[in-house]
Amino acid sequence: MRNKLIAGNWKMQGSLAGNPVLLNSVAAGAATLPTVTLAVMVPFTYLVQTQSRLAGSACAWGAQDVSEEAAGAFTGEISVAMLQEMGCRYVIVGHSERRARHGETDAQVAAKAHAAVEGALTPIICLGETLAQREAGETLAVVHRQLDAVLQRVGVHRMAQTVLAYEPVWAIGTGKSATAEQVQEVHAALRSRVSNADWVVGAGLQILYGGSVKPSNALELMRLPDVDGALVGGASLVADDFLDIGRAAATA
Ligand code: PEP
Repeated sequence: MRNKLIAGNWKMQGSLAGNPVLLNSVAAGAATLPTVTLAVMVPFTYLVQTQSRLAGSACAWGAQDVSEEAAGAFTGEISVAMLQEMGCRYVIVGHSERRARHGETDAQVAAKAHAAVEGALTPIICLGETLAQREAGETLAVVHRQLDAVLQRVGVHRMAQTVLAYEPVWAIGTGKSATAEQVQEVHAALRSRVSNADWVVGAGLQILYGGSVKPSNALELMRLPDVDGALVGGASLVADDFLDIGRAAATA
């Protein structure tokens, strides 16, 4: 039986003055949802504040990217060990905004996932196709290629220490979620790819859906057999919406 994870991705949003209200509400809400894991992925500069607000609460936290390097001359990068010092449990790797804007390759995303696992952080590994790729019928080929790079680098056994997030690029921040059928098809395909390498790991792997998840569509998505939670962008900035999605996961 896989637990559900609802992870908020704040992206480049928030402020020192405004964050406490959101963090306190999410911490209070998490205490009422014992069967679901809630987590927030905040900008690096808010990790100290997040740690001090959420430590001891039922809500976990993490970052939105990490270096594949351990330490050294890598200006502007943040290491796994640094995130560990901030009490992070999770880190997002391979978000499509980083793949597109920063040219992150499948190999680099896989290396980041590997570094996170080595450092006992749980990577939330984002995969997903563009609209052009979907329209060309390439969706499964694209997500399999992205997954295979991670499987090869991390190894199937250590995939048990990772979370996948299927995020169709065309559904992120657009208000237009993928349909339940589209989501289930890709999630089942991803699970079966991992199961082919190791049945137990595949069966236990948490696979989140991300892309315009909101209170109005969360229940339908969370009820899908291969959906184990959500990676939530916009709606994670509104405590009531984020917690409603958490409640949908608890109900489903
Ligand atoms: C995301 O940023 O990962 C995301 C899914 O965003 P949104 O929920 O706003 O579509």
